[in-house]
Amino acid sequence: MAVLVTGGAGYIGSHTVLSLLMRGDEVVVLDNLSNASRESLRRVEQLTGKTATFIEGDILDRAVLQAVFAQHPIQSVIHFAGLKAVGESTRKPLEYYQNNVTGTLVLLEEMRAAGVKQFIFSSSATVYGANAPVPYVETTEIGGTTSPYGTSKLMVELILRDYAAADADFSAIALRYFNPVGAHDSGEIGEDPNGIPNNLLPYIAQVAVGRLPALGIFGDDYPTQDGTGVRDYIHVMDLAEGHLKALDKLPAIQGYKAYNLGAGEGYSVLEMLKAFELASGKPVPYEIKPRRAGDLAAFWADASLAEKELNWRVSRGLSEMMADTWRWQQKNPQGFAQ
Ligand code: NAD
Ligand code: UDP
Repeated sequence: MAVLVTGGAGYIGSHTVLSLLMRGDEVVVLDNLSNASRESLRRVEQLTGKTATFIEGDILDRAVLQAVFAQHPIQSVIHFAGLKAVGESTRKPLEYYQNNVTGTLVLLEEMRAAGVKQFIFSSSATVYGANAPVPYVETTEIGGTTSPYGTSKLMVELILRDYAAADADFSAIALRYFNPVGAHDSGEIGEDPNGIPNNLLPYIAQVAVGRLPALGIFGDDYPTQDGTGVRDYIHVMDLAEGHLKALDKLPAIQGYKAYNLGAGEGYSVLEMLKAFELASGKPVPYEIKPRRAGDLAAFWADASLAEKELNWRVSRGLSEMMADTWRWQQKNPQGFAQ
């Protein structure tokens, strides 16, 4: 039996495909390469000595999905495919709802037609909305999202909940990621954002490698330890391993469950910057800028449910996140485009 990984050529997807292949799972990847390079999976195959079936195609394309389910013995789906830039989603809400919500609906319908009933969804801490108490815990009601991106994740979670309630054979796990960073420790695969990075760590790494002049820190007057924003950063390989644990748990799950995947502690922007400088030996110049619209001061996960029920918790700390980010960036200053 095989697992279908949508968006498997992307950042988190490629690391998860690597983990799946390493343990011997059969993997089929469907990705339209809108935000990824074919090279990522070539490297995964070099690293693992194993092959994943790759199909270039869109989750909105029913004919492609029908062919995938007809031609491969798919038992479960890990669904990464989607658009993920919060700021862009406020400018292009229809594209975000089309890709993230309609795309997921089309995928679920074609799964149902093919009799595939096990589903893992890439959700996000953003579904807790702006007013949830910190640390975020799964018992807090989700909602109050502040961007079309966040609302698209919320909508899919609600769709999964309702579908699972209506079909006793369908089971779904939503994994609510906190802030994924880092890279595989080979430095062969990693995060390769298009254009100027939105996220903190890719930005810092591109300053260190000389592609950008200085980091802008978005606000130093938050009510946090040093005034800069606090987030729960999680190593992408820990996150990948969380998907394997969730996949193994799915047959035992009835209905829909959500789990936080985070480290359970928060670091400030300045703490991240210092940790990166220490790991890389590179100074990272920065300047304080105004707050970024929509940013929260601080949040991190209560990750105890995943530990209890999935037997998962992070095993890689800040220094590994930084060393692995830097190894990837140094070996691949222009990302996958060499
Ligand atoms: P990514 O952009 O690297 O990966 C997404 C992949 O999906 C890309 O390879 C892209 O080409 C593909 N894709 C997009 N639309 C598609 C479509 N319609 N059909 C087929 N393929 C399509 O992003 P990532 O960081 O690896 O994120 C993976 C998932 O995790 C996304 O759903 C994202 O929203 C979610 N997530 C990411 C973060 C984060 O900070 N990286 C945090 C929380 C949740
Ligand atoms: N941040 C920053 N400068 C940047 C990018 C991010 O100061 O160039 C801060 C941001 O304000 C937040 C933290 O770094 O406090 C993490 O931001 P990121 O965009 O990586 O993740 P988010 O939690 O916003 O999804």
